[in-house]
Amino acid sequence: MRQLYIGGSWTASTSDESIEVANPATEEIIDRVPAGTPGDVDAAVQAARRAFPRWAETPAAERGKLLGDAADLLRQRSDEIAKTIATDMGAPLGFALKVQTLMPATVLSSYARLAESHPRESRAGNSLVLKEPVGVVAAITPWNYPLHQIICKAGPALAAGCTVVLKPSEVAPLAAYALAEIFDEVGLPAGVFNLVSGRGPVVGEAMAAHPDVDMVSFTGSTGAGRRVASLAAESVKRVALELGGKSANIILPDADLPLAVKVGVANCFVNAGQTCSALTRMIVHRDQYDEAVRLAVETARGYTVGDPFDESTRIGPLVSATQRERVVRYINRGQEEGARLVAGGTEQPHERGHYVEPTVFAGVEPGMTIEQEEIFGPVLTLIPYTTEDMAVEIANGTKYGLAGAVWAGTEEHAVSVARRLRTGQVAVNGGRFNPMAPFGGYKQSGVGRELGEYGLEEFLEIKALQL
Ligand code: NAD
Repeated sequence: MRQLYIGGSWTASTSDESIEVANPATEEIIDRVPAGTPGDVDAAVQAARRAFPRWAETPAAERGKLLGDAADLLRQRSDEIAKTIATDMGAPLGFALKVQTLMPATVLSSYARLAESHPRESRAGNSLVLKEPVGVVAAITPWNYPLHQIICKAGPALAAGCTVVLKPSEVAPLAAYALAEIFDEVGLPAGVFNLVSGRGPVVGEAMAAHPDVDMVSFTGSTGAGRRVASLAAESVKRVALELGGKSANIILPDADLPLAVKVGVANCFVNAGQTCSALTRMIVHRDQYDEAVRLAVETARGYTVGDPFDESTRIGPLVSATQRERVVRYINRGQEEGARLVAGGTEQPHERGHYVEPTVFAGVEPGMTIEQEEIFGPVLTLIPYTTEDMAVEIANGTKYGLAGAVWAGTEEHAVSVARRLRTGQVAVNGGRFNPMAPFGGYKQSGVGRELGEYGLEEFLEIKALQL
């Protein structure tokens, strides 16, 4: 069994209990990680607390250098880490390398630079305004982009001068171990980064409630985020939440329909639909609706579902049996509520592995369960509209507000609609993901922003000196 990383050493947990890590394609147990305890959390928080004053005072250039070295090592180990992610969460290998491993390396490099370049002092009248690290940060992350979500927190927190206690998802924890090895190898001082594996309700809750933690940065489901925020409120911690989504893709009548549908379908099914910002609701003008459904079905049927290590695979397995059951329940619910299943469904395409075929629903009306709730699997819904106002109303008509997309004949037209969406991001005419742009949610999709300078600001306190 693996160990915890606390105070710069690999340490046994205070409990003998372990959590099995499975390969979702073969269903075999591939590893075991400790089921950490509140006692382990306390040891890690104390280590982070002791390391904080020196790390906060370490010159920014030095902090940046260590993060840059870590990013280089991440790139050097990228093939092996991509294989790990393909094995413990099921992402197709090419995607696991490019998006799940090399993109986080790029993000870490960006924080290596920002550690030094982001201004920490400004003037406001007779005041000198200082930005200082928040302190000890508890980071709690999900399994769907297991390394990226960690880097989105550890990168800016460490660049800011904070120390970190990380609890990765117990479902896909292995990339976190590789990252801890990397931080150890580059010589991050003891206690600056700590890893405690374990279950959310035990380790996660102990972190959120710990009085010596100054900030909790959480990515995961809205329900667990709400619990974390309420525990953190007891000691008035700063809280950043990156939660779920049900993002809309509005295709306006003057858009290039075949392109918009093709890119929209790809965006919905990326990472087997296990992406918080997935565009799961395609909102199409009623006059173009049948054609859009036809194009979406054709595109979905062209996707190969299978072994993450097979080069032709576009969609790997879902991460676990639990996740598959959840998605199957939603597919059944969609049919019960009268939506039309036009591609995919609940049948198992392979004997082993938690696979779900790319699934498309037509005849979806606003308010249906599959139109309102986050499914987190490869399930696309198409919803018709008649006026632009109605399209915007449908897009804004869920409790979420994470991402979105607008397609139109001109950028100007698309931007005018994008401005009306109550979401943290909008892709305009297929604008590609920007790892330096602020990412985060309106409404119940979260509080705060990650990535780029906005992501760094989350980990800084503000002090005014009146001169
Ligand atoms: P999850 O909420 O089950 O778990 C996320 C993390 O929280 C895990 O580490 C888990 O152990 C921990 N956790 C669970 N219950 C907890 C509790 N009571 N207290 C403290 N910690 C707890 O989510 P998941 O299934 O791992 O991930 C999928 C969810 O994450 C989806 O809802 C998805 O939209 C969301 N997500 C959001 C973003 C974003 O940036 N907005 C990114 C990725 C995933």
